[in-house]
Amino acid sequence: MTKIQNVRGTYDLYGEAKRKAKKVISVGSNIVEKYGFEEIETPIFEFTEVFSRNLGDTSDIVTKEMYCFQDRGGESLTLRPEGTAGVVRSFISEGMQQNLPVKLYYTGPMFRYERPQKGRQRQFTQFGCELLGVETPQADIELISMAYEFIESLGLAGNVTVEINSLGDTESRNNYREKLVSYLKEHFDELSEDSKNRLEKNPLRVLDSKEECDKQVVANAPLYSESLNEASSKFFADVLKGLDDLGIKYRVNNRLVRGLDYYSHTVFELVTDKLGAQGTVLAGGRYDGLVEQMGGGKVAGIGWACGVERLSMLLEEDTSLPRPIAVIPVGEDTNDEAIKIAYKLRRAGYRVEHSYNGNLKKRMMKANKVKAYLAVIIGSDELASQQVTLKDLDKGEQRTVMLADLLKEIK
Ligand code: ATP
Ligand code: MG
Repeated sequence: MTKIQNVRGTYDLYGEAKRKAKKVISVGSNIVEKYGFEEIETPIFEFTEVFSRNLGDTSDIVTKEMYCFQDRGGESLTLRPEGTAGVVRSFISEGMQQNLPVKLYYTGPMFRYERPQKGRQRQFTQFGCELLGVETPQADIELISMAYEFIESLGLAGNVTVEINSLGDTESRNNYREKLVSYLKEHFDELSEDSKNRLEKNPLRVLDSKEECDKQVVANAPLYSESLNEASSKFFADVLKGLDDLGIKYRVNNRLVRGLDYYSHTVFELVTDKLGAQGTVLAGGRYDGLVEQMGGGKVAGIGWACGVERLSMLLEEDTSLPRPIAVIPVGEDTNDEAIKIAYKLRRAGYRVEHSYNGNLKKRMMKANKVKAYLAVIIGSDELASQQVTLKDLDKGEQRTVMLADLLKEIK
């Protein structure tokens, strides 16, 4: 029989890696809740068209990364590759437009059929947030500052740069598109097959290509900033000024476009040089057209999402749990008392490791292995006089205390 193993690109998260991922999510949740965001949990799968119609039919995700399947009723469903489309679907189907603005955050697994490598998995976790119903640059400033505070709270601000660009409104986008297409046509032969294709359907996507030949062409492409109309330039300038006022450092990156079709105006990424090619740890942007495109009203939106595993890999903080107290019964007849003592200590707030079996020596070794700082040793003779031994496992000192005083003595 072949050995059962996990699917390529998926990982079992446990031990330190799980603790770090949990830390990233709890720090993130605390911060976004301060900004008024509430958690939402949408299903892990949606009708395929929730993604295929809205992420852009030339995007990497839709063309080659989605996990689509037919269920037994013949519906075409897709494991979510990202969070925004599902949250916006929920915003519309739950009628949340009645009460704007709406601020939501989510966390959970995403699925993309990608070539697995460091920082690139087929199932990975995102933590993200969406702000719906605010058209003004204040939303952009607030969301970026929130992302910054999050990264800073993880102790990673020193490693991370905020990169930002503006794609402008529809008019600016069309302006730019024309200039870009005529430029790319002059360099048609130098482009990858994928990009030749994109040139027809969605030329902006070429800017996002990871192929070396495309990158060379893109290096000299017209700059987005030259195509922004007045309103879009002003919007972008306001966002940058807001960041300046908050003392948040950024780098305007004129080549930054995002991989999905729904973005307009502000797009941004938080990038580190510590993860090689997979350096983007958090990414987001404004998506003013998305709600309408998905059949809702004209509602502006902006959001970001981070890769929890990528952030976890950068986290240097010690995430180990507090050291426990070991409760060690010596002899069969003290087992019941040991259980009672462990229960009492746990209810008083201590982490307690009960040593289940073995002789005293073995149990003491076990206590060291779980890094206990203190042992409560329960012997039959002592117990008869309502006493136990407390042993400081770092200093090796021990003393006998009355069972009734145990909590007081431990303090
Ligand atoms: P990339 O350019 O690296 O493919 P992307 O533009 O596809 O990233 P987004 O869709 O913006 O990524 O997702 C937001 C974040 O989620 C990324 O910045 C990254 O940290 C994380 N992420 C995306 N895809 C993966 C993956 N396959 N494995 C692990 N993390 C990922
Ligand atoms: Mg990708």
